[in-house]
Formats: sequence, structure tokens, C-alpha cells
Amino acid sequence: MTPHSRRTSKSSLGFFSYRVIIFSILAVTLAALTKFVPRLSLLSHHLTLPKTLFTTTKMFTYSKELEVAQLAVQKASILTKKVFHEKAKGTISKDDTSPVTIGDFGAQALIIHAIKKNFPDDEIVGEEEASSLRNDTKLRDLIWGLVKDTTLMDDDADKIVGGPIKSIDAMLDAIDAGNSAGGNKGRIWALDPIDGTKGFLRGGQYAVCLALMVDGDIKVGVLGCPNLPVDDAASLTAESGVDQTDAEGKGVLFSAVSGHGATSRPLGTAGLVKSQPIHMKPVKDITQATFCESVEAGHSSHGDQHAIATKLGVTKPSVRMDSQAKYGSIARGAGDIYLRLPVRADYQEKIWDHAAGDLIVREAGGEVTDTLGRRLDFSKGRTLQENKGVVAAPKAVHGNILEVVQEVLAKK
Ligand code: AMP
Ligand code: MG
Repeated sequence: MTPHSRRTSKSSLGFFSYRVIIFSILAVTLAALTKFVPRLSLLSHHLTLPKTLFTTTKMFTYSKELEVAQLAVQKASILTKKVFHEKAKGTISKDDTSPVTIGDFGAQALIIHAIKKNFPDDEIVGEEEASSLRNDTKLRDLIWGLVKDTTLMDDDADKIVGGPIKSIDAMLDAIDAGNSAGGNKGRIWALDPIDGTKGFLRGGQYAVCLALMVDGDIKVGVLGCPNLPVDDAASLTAESGVDQTDAEGKGVLFSAVSGHGATSRPLGTAGLVKSQPIHMKPVKDITQATFCESVEAGHSSHGDQHAIATKLGVTKPSVRMDSQAKYGSIARGAGDIYLRLPVRADYQEKIWDHAAGDLIVREAGGEVTDTLGRRLDFSKGRTLQENKGVVAAPKAVHGNILEVVQEVLAKK
């Protein structure tokens, strides 16, 4: 070996050892982080962590999607609340005769804008589309007035959801981007900008609903319920679904990420405030359970639901409320059971009416199936074409309730 080659091999050995040391340090740090980060994310449900940690740190899979969805729903809710307080809500009738308001269109524009800014390749199954607005300049301008004046009070939070929409055309395009056919491949959001529009018009409950599914499986679900009480412990009463306001003490944001539990927090107007975990209430005595159902008899069969409750010995009258506020309410134990029994054999439930609520209830310890005991299948397109109705209840009693549902339906 020449002195030169010895010098070369010695120095390359030194460089090699240096690399091994750096590599080992990196590997150990990475291993420690991998162990620690999931725990941190669980702990975040219980501890008061700095706001920045909640809003900017990637703590678990879908944490960014969750943050964007929560802030987008919060921003859209500011818009819907403005319309809720207006006498004239710019209502038009859709082809299926169901109502849609300027609040529905405006909320859909804001939420799709937020999704597209953050996840440009994602698809969206949104309830509304803008064709009727493209010819109706009066209605379109009313919506634009609302959309351009709605911001989150926290600049950083508003930036996360894409800031202002630039023009009327951009707003219409955002609304029309909710045209995905759905399905079992890739990342698809399901959006109902105002679920329970009839309740919204009547002064009842309504919800701004957003969920992300990946390959047909719901991974993130968020529900903004401006007219539900903030307090998770406030039990439902017969009045919970009628003559509602969004006054002080009202407005709740429910969220869930698959495998990470469900939470609630006050529905704010700026950044996200602290959340707490929610759980379904164990039903010790079914006769004392609180049933929830639609206000609209045309959406679910009040008669069948009454027969089932009677057969189970339930003594309390059912609580009727519009929208996925029913899912949120049972998920936090304010009510116990949600039944939605088909009125028409040919009706296919829409995925945006159930996606967020289904995940929130399951992550809170509940079971959600159709009347045949099948999990809701969101992978079939824009509708739940493989399902009939909904039976949502705490796991421990779901089987018992499903049996009675099937007995009652079999007698028809
Ligand atoms: P809810 O407020 O729980 O009564 O549900 C409101 C949703 O019911 C609306 O968003 C509609 O998509 C949906 N809907 C409309 N017609 C029907 C029907 N015949 N059966 C079930 N759901 C329906
Ligand atoms: Mg709806």
C-alpha cells in the first residue's frame, strides 16, 4: 500500500464512521418519534396543548385534512348563520322539489374552495350545483355578497381555508366542482352544505356536513351544528328540534378521524378552540332510552319507528330533529338511538346525508347499520344504493334493536 493509498483509506474510513454515527442518531430519533407521535395525538384529546400544536403540527394521518375540514365547516357555518337570521333566504325549488337556499350555495362554495386550495387532486361529491345560478344573476349576486363577506376572524385560520374567493366565476366553478360520481377509488369528499334545509327554513336544527373517504372508507367526518347546545351533557328534549336559535351557548363542531375517536368543541368564528372526546351513553335500561328521528315524515317512517319504540317498551316520546344533528346528539350521549326507516322502497339515501355522522357515531362507540344489519356502504357512488334505512345505537344494544326493527318491518 502506498502512503497515499493508506491516507485515502484512513480518511474514507473516518468519513464512513462519521456517516454511521449520524445515521444511527437519525435512526434512533426517528424510532423515538414514531413511538411518541401517536401517543401525543391521543394525549391531545385530554391535555391543553398550545393552539399551534393543534393547528399546524402533523400529528397523525389525516390531521391536515381534519384541520382543513373543521375550519372550512366553521367558516361555512358563519355564512349559514347569517342566512338563518334573514327572513328572505333566497329559496328555490330543485328538480326533486326539495328546497335550496343562498346559504346552501354559499356554504358549498366556501368549503370546496378550501378543499381545492389544500388538496387540488381530491374529488368532491357535493349536494348542490350551480347551473340554476348561471342564468339567475339576482340570486347569484346575493350569494356572492355573502361569500365575499364571510371570513374566519383569525387571519391564519382563514388562510388555511384558502382566503377569499377571487370572483363570481370562481365561486360558481367551486360550487360545480362538487360533481364527482363517488366510488371506491381514491380520495373523495362528501359534502352537504346545509343538511336539513327544511329545518333551516323552519327554524329547527340543521348541519354543515363534510367527510373524506379514501377508497370508499370514511376517514374524516366533521359536522357543524349551529343550533345545538355547546354542552355535551345537555340531554335532548322534545323541544330540541323546534324553534331553535344560535344564541349564546349554542353551536357545536363534531369531528372524528377513523381510529382516533370523536370529539366536540364550540363552533367558533376564528381558529379552532379546544375539543373534548365524546362517547355514546351506555343504555342500561332500554325503556328509558331517547329515540331520535326526522321531523319530516316523508324522510323516515314515524309509524314504523313508533311501533319499534313501543315494542322495546320505550316510554319517552321520540325527539324529532332535522339533519345529521341526530348523529352528533347520540354520539355525545344527549340521545341514545337514531332510526331512519324507509318511507319509499325506491329511495336511495345520499352519501352526504350520512358520511360524517356515520363515522362520528362509530368513533364514539356506536354501531351504524341499515335495517338489514349491513354497514353503510359509501363506495357505490353518490347514493347508498346497497343500503335501506339507518339504525344507529350504542354497540351493546344495537343487535337487540335491529332484531325488533326487522320484526316490525317483516309484519308490513
Ligand atoms: P332529515 O333532516 O334527517 O329528515 O334528512 C334530511 C335529508 O333527507 C335531506 O338532505 C334529503 O337528502 C333527504 N331526503 C329527501 N327525501 C328523502 C326520502 N324520501 N327518504 C329519506 N331521506 C330523504
Ligand atoms: Mg341533506
